[in-house]
Amino acid sequence: MTAQLIDGNALARQVRAEVADRVQALKARGVEPRLTVILVGEDPASQVYTRNKVADSEQTGLQATLERYPAELPEADLLARIRQLNDDAGVHGILVQLPLPRHMDAHRVIETIAPAKDVDGFHVASAGALMVGQPGFRPCTPYGCMRMLESIGVDLKGKHAVVIGRSNIVGKPMAMMLLGANATVTICHSGTRDLKAQTLQADVVVAAVGKRNMLTADMVKPGAVVIDVGMNRDDAGKLCGDVDFDGVREVAGWITPVPGGVGPMTRAMLLVNTIEAAEKAPPRGA
Ligand code: NDP
Repeated sequence: MTAQLIDGNALARQVRAEVADRVQALKARGVEPRLTVILVGEDPASQVYTRNKVADSEQTGLQATLERYPAELPEADLLARIRQLNDDAGVHGILVQLPLPRHMDAHRVIETIAPAKDVDGFHVASAGALMVGQPGFRPCTPYGCMRMLESIGVDLKGKHAVVIGRSNIVGKPMAMMLLGANATVTICHSGTRDLKAQTLQADVVVAAVGKRNMLTADMVKPGAVVIDVGMNRDDAGKLCGDVDFDGVREVAGWITPVPGGVGPMTRAMLLVNTIEAAEKAPPRGA
């Protein structure tokens, strides 16, 4: 069996087109949806990510501003700037690019963002809303994975999903979303005794570890859906995921490639969260 590909680029294009329509609808009502992205320091990967986030936004008609600050910026100044943006009715989404310089407490910084503008979905209020099944911003990566699962029409009810990784931004919210869709969910991590025994039972496997080739063909049940969140480099420096793609695609029913899978969907879901923030914002002056 050769797995069918879940094409993240194609799906992301569709999502961006939907967002662009919603942007036009808001503009027709006199609302200019706006995202502010904050980058502190010179981390090369963060510079690329933030540039992409602004470019993606502008492509859909969303206004986006990148604010750059030196790595030495005192944390108090960053918190003060976030509070200003919280109070600015013209700004609908605020995203602080992680990681932050070592002298800053990332948790304190994220908690300073108003939950109504937390388009990354990392605020404790957003995490709590997900936990109790209430509306709120969902972290973009697992949100994108759910959209990919939806796109192939898989009914998650009663399916066994195994999530490998338990980070606050990917693994845990992924597990919560799968649970919300009535899957039976197992969360694996570095302390899991027999990972293969778990993954072999999975109808859906989400690999979110950050280790190349950590999911191999012998660990996958025939026909399973395999979502590869990992972002690693192979020996030639080429981007690759956590999944041994060539091997696993011979066993799985569906598989996401890296690149061209979860990455573009993560970017697209930030736009979905931002337009949603703008749609829900009280009118200016209200
Ligand atoms: P973290 O490093 O925060 O979490 C990794 C998780 O993997 C941890 O929970 C860890 O367990 C677990 N783990 C480590 N080794 C093993 C193992 N041998 N077996 C089972 N579990 C293991 O990473 P993130 O969640 O932030 O990201 C995961 C990957 O996804 C990374 O490659 C990252 O670059 C990528 N990523 C991709 C995105 C995209 O848009 N495509 C977006 C975000 C992330 P423990 O908790 O016990 O330490």
